[in-house]
Amino acid sequence: MRKKLMLSLVPVLAALACWTSLAVAAPAATDGKLQVAVGVAPVEYFAKKIGGEFIQTMVLVPAGADAHTYEPKPSQMRALSGAVLYLSVGLEFEQAWEPRLKGANKKLAFVHLEQGLALLPMPEGHEDHHRGKLEPKGKHEHHDEADPHLWVSPAQVRQMALRIAEALTRVDPAHAKVFVANLAAFQKEIDALDAELRAVFVAVPADRRSFLVFHPAWGYLARDYGLTQTAIEFEGKEPSPRRLAAIVAQAKARGTRVIFVQPQMSRRTAESIAQALGARVVVADPLAADWAVNLRSVAAGFRDALR
Ligand code: ZN
Repeated sequence: MRKKLMLSLVPVLAALACWTSLAVAAPAATDGKLQVAVGVAPVEYFAKKIGGEFIQTMVLVPAGADAHTYEPKPSQMRALSGAVLYLSVGLEFEQAWEPRLKGANKKLAFVHLEQGLALLPMPEGHEDHHRGKLEPKGKHEHHDEADPHLWVSPAQVRQMALRIAEALTRVDPAHAKVFVANLAAFQKEIDALDAELRAVFVAVPADRRSFLVFHPAWGYLARDYGLTQTAIEFEGKEPSPRRLAAIVAQAKARGTRVIFVQPQMSRRTAESIAQALGARVVVADPLAADWAVNLRSVAAGFRDALR
């Protein structure tokens, strides 16, 4: 009986092993490329801009997953053993897993891209993963947690790009010239994008610059371009009807015309709020893989909502 079961499992196990080894072997079959791991897709975009053909990237958080509560899978942990760099933005799981990742891979340089940046505190409405979910806000003042959505600010990405170039040069000095040239080219692109966004947002009248968003991931964009972000969610969850009513009343008073929604979230609540405000729903994905295209479309959505 037992033997039969074992036998019947063999093809399944073989298939699994094959699949896992494929999934894990991808980063190992490197052709001498540097293995660079990142938490979220936009950081991969930056790494590729600087590392180009000399790196192979691995993104831990898959599209549509919650970047805050993510837990790396065992297969990812195994794949990480081949990595030479981890580019962290200080997400909760990255902070929690840093010692384990370093312990499991002595060659791994863990780079803190958030260091040296002028960070904002975690925005109101965002779940604070260090504080108990049930603890009322205000009772417990601590601001350990910075807003980790660093990459929605082109100015901040400019600094992060420099750190990525430095880190790549440290692990692969032979290609330093390429990394420096790639950095210069990318920073030029960032400057052009920044100028474009600035032109869009400057044209928005001062009393139309606030927006609502479920998940407050756009704090650095708001800071850089003079916008006001208000979260609809509270502590990472749908707000109570009473809280929602207060948010809508405040948004009305502020002349809010724009509501950002992430593509993976339901639009229903957003549509009903939009109707109450005469606002427009703009799809804005903070984790979009094509960083520049996404920021342009967010700005265009904002502009169009004011017509
Ligand atoms: Zn977030």
